[in-house]
Amino acid sequence: MRKIILVAILVGLFTTLVYPQTTFSDETKKYIEYNDSVTVFKNALLIDGKGNDAKPHQSVIISNGKIKWIGEDATLQLPKGAKLIDLNGKALMPGLVMLHEHMYISAHDIGTRYLHLKQLPFTFPRLYLAAGATTIRTCGSIEPYSDLRIKKDIDLGLLPGPSMELTAPYIQGKSSNFPQMKENKTPEEAAAFVNYWADQGFTSFKAYMGVDKPILKAAIDAAHKRKLKITGHLDIVTYREAALLGMDNLEHGFIASTDFVPGKKEDEHPAAGVAIKSLGNLNISSDSVQQFIQYVIDKKVGITSSLAVFEGYTTTQPRPDQEALNAMSPDTRDYYLQRFVTVKSTASHLDWNKAFANAAKMEKMFYEMGGLLTVGTDPTGAGGTLAGYGNWRAIELLVEADGFTPLQGIKIATQNGSVALGFDKSIGTIEVGKSADLLVIDGDPSKNISDIRKLLYVFKNGVGYNSKKLFDSVKGKVGFN
Ligand SMILES: [Zn+2]
Repeated sequence: MRKIILVAILVGLFTTLVYPQTTFSDETKKYIEYNDSVTVFKNALLIDGKGNDAKPHQSVIISNGKIKWIGEDATLQLPKGAKLIDLNGKALMPGLVMLHEHMYISAHDIGTRYLHLKQLPFTFPRLYLAAGATTIRTCGSIEPYSDLRIKKDIDLGLLPGPSMELTAPYIQGKSSNFPQMKENKTPEEAAAFVNYWADQGFTSFKAYMGVDKPILKAAIDAAHKRKLKITGHLDIVTYREAALLGMDNLEHGFIASTDFVPGKKEDEHPAAGVAIKSLGNLNISSDSVQQFIQYVIDKKVGITSSLAVFEGYTTTQPRPDQEALNAMSPDTRDYYLQRFVTVKSTASHLDWNKAFANAAKMEKMFYEMGGLLTVGTDPTGAGGTLAGYGNWRAIELLVEADGFTPLQGIKIATQNGSVALGFDKSIGTIEVGKSADLLVIDGDPSKNISDIRKLLYVFKNGVGYNSKKLFDSVKGKVGFN
């Protein structure tokens, strides 16, 4: 009897279900390069994830999945039997904590009635891990039982992939263009929806476009009653309104904000394209923008940047890197390259250029005024924003578009993500006692952010995966058919 009570108490303490790690499957083992009881990194350029300057000649001892010791090389006492990894000329930084991820890819305009969404349970988890994302929060599910299963199989060591914080199926309003999404006609229905998915094991929620204030309020209250967080990609509800209702986070930086749409009526959908136009025309140094950002910060709403996906709507986007194109299946690559050309020559996308630039500047203002800025990929960019490669692009854009220093960009992609998830005691920075989620990089991303692409090994819970082998395993396979 006592044992049952104890188990019940323990289960109650953990909002996130943790599966005990047993052994790794043969499939997972193919990608594991290091799995020792004690591992010592020596001669590392240490980037701690807190925004501090990179420190040369550092040693780190990890054991049982945790960081045990950090110090100068000169003071290192090598534990007996430890695996020594000399990182001369290499950097060690925390694993990425990426907050707007999905297990699916999307295609637009392919002659079907609906937006084409395709779950990728095989390729996406390993792409995330390959790029150094040791923790991801999915941000809206289209195949919820598949998401639950992927998380379970990764946690059990059956599949290589990141630790996953799972967001339930999208919370929709009265109508949805997505056949995968349930339409919630009443606040009561929305609350029941939240409770149902929380019962299935989802620990995070996302309200989506089409949700009005009464539905949103019901969803927020239901999630908070269960001590779970809720984020949103909204359009009917403005950021100010959402902040007042108690939203924890908002996605897509300020690009999804409808606060500046002229004549916007409460609980009414703005006309297509108007929000982007109004954002592009905004004078971001005006008092009203300052006050708006301050309001969001005062209400303790976090913001997730997702510039990598929106870059695909501008006419200024560079060609995606060849590695990402190589990862795509032939049909997806053709489709994406075709769309890339179309967007560049479509006049209406000029509105996106201005909106993108303003939204980027607003993200920096938000951060500098004290807001909690995080970053994610949103791999829905018409085939172009892949998991993994897109993670890197999203972080590069924090530097290229927003104007952050590389160290700030890294902090946003590591420590800030952990804070937003409430996991900052266990992940997000290189500190004694935290999970040994560490990236070995053959370069210096504190100077050149694109050096995050020179990733050699990804340590997750102290186990080192070979990044290249993971990438190679999906080459030519990532696609929507
Ligand atoms: Zn998304």
